[in-house]
Amino acid sequence: MFEFAVEATHGAARAGRWTLPHGVVETPCFMPVGTQGTVRALSPRDLEAIGARIVLANTYHLFLRPGEETVAKLGGLHRFMGWPHPILTDSGGFQVFSLESLRRVSEEGVEFRSHIDGSARFLSPERAVEVQWTLGSDIAMAFDHVIPGQASREAAQDALDRTLRWLVRCKERFATLGQEAVSRQPSAISGALSDCGRPTADGPLADGPSQTLVPIIQGGTYADLRRASLEGILGAGDWDALAVGGLSVGESKAATFETLESLGPILPAGRPRYLMGVGFPEDVVGAIARGVDLADCVAPTRMGRNGAAFTDDGPVNIRNARHRDDPGPLDPGCDCETCTTFSRGYLRHLFAAEELLGLRLLSLHNVRYLIRLSARARAAIVDGSFEGWSREWLARYQAKEQA
Ligand SMILES: [Zn+2]
Repeated sequence: MFEFAVEATHGAARAGRWTLPHGVVETPCFMPVGTQGTVRALSPRDLEAIGARIVLANTYHLFLRPGEETVAKLGGLHRFMGWPHPILTDSGGFQVFSLESLRRVSEEGVEFRSHIDGSARFLSPERAVEVQWTLGSDIAMAFDHVIPGQASREAAQDALDRTLRWLVRCKERFATLGQEAVSRQPSAISGALSDCGRPTADGPLADGPSQTLVPIIQGGTYADLRRASLEGILGAGDWDALAVGGLSVGESKAATFETLESLGPILPAGRPRYLMGVGFPEDVVGAIARGVDLADCVAPTRMGRNGAAFTDDGPVNIRNARHRDDPGPLDPGCDCETCTTFSRGYLRHLFAAEELLGLRLLSLHNVRYLIRLSARARAAIVDGSFEGWSREWLARYQAKEQA
């Protein structure tokens, strides 16, 4: 369980397969974000139809509403969402650190006010691990101290150090939860827990652990701090995967790519690499070129609800009057329901009339676009044409500003 196989490489880009408790994920892979336990406007059947194999859910949001115990009573996160495939939960760190005026950070954890009802709440490394354990995701993220992209070196160092101290606490709590689960399953003692693996919720450990804990590399845009963060993480355990966090929080795209380039050679080659919060097409291709295996972002659904669609010829604003009489598809190269069924003229009409179907159809297309883009990149890595393919794709994507 959690084995990652690199099947092909081209330059720094990798094609792999990651075996998770609820299925195998082919990488590079884009993960749609289901903030509240739902990818906004899309059903699990929609997601399956457009090739999604793993989704992300937000610990912060599910912790506040409906609460992880409610999710557990309703059968755990997979059953709750009606999504039988892999799920990654973030730790809530990104959300609580975004609540600038509503939170207080200490070594113990983060006190904050709920954005829903203003109630006082608390998340610590231990609580973040417990919540994700109770939710039952395949991949749980360590609780990290997130800082703005242009943070000073001092602030970056401080957050990095705290994140490493918190990682040790996350790991200890995760191990205890695993031992407690094993002790409740006397028939399961023959199995061995991996360093960072959760035992299956039901049945013996023969199938392997059902959750893994993934650390997050911090350090802002400072290459030496990023290296120090990675070294600290590798010294703290044997992890099934590694995440790069604290990017896409206001720093330049060049800084993001430089960080990936400097980390690439020192990241363990046999572990999947997850870049958090990246989901515009040119960023996804750029990240894949620099060795990223998984990425997530709310961009495709958020853009879709605003009437913006990704295509190989650049973004399209479907609200624009020039689409009024256009009988052609949104993206002629796309195989999604939106592009194979409806005209640009009809989609524009839906947005003009503020019909819900418009939001759904553009969200569906944008998520499909990123999943297909990742699959196209994978195919190019496997057949050795990735460099040429990515150059041609980018030139076309940036060639003309559509409106
Ligand atoms: Zn489409």
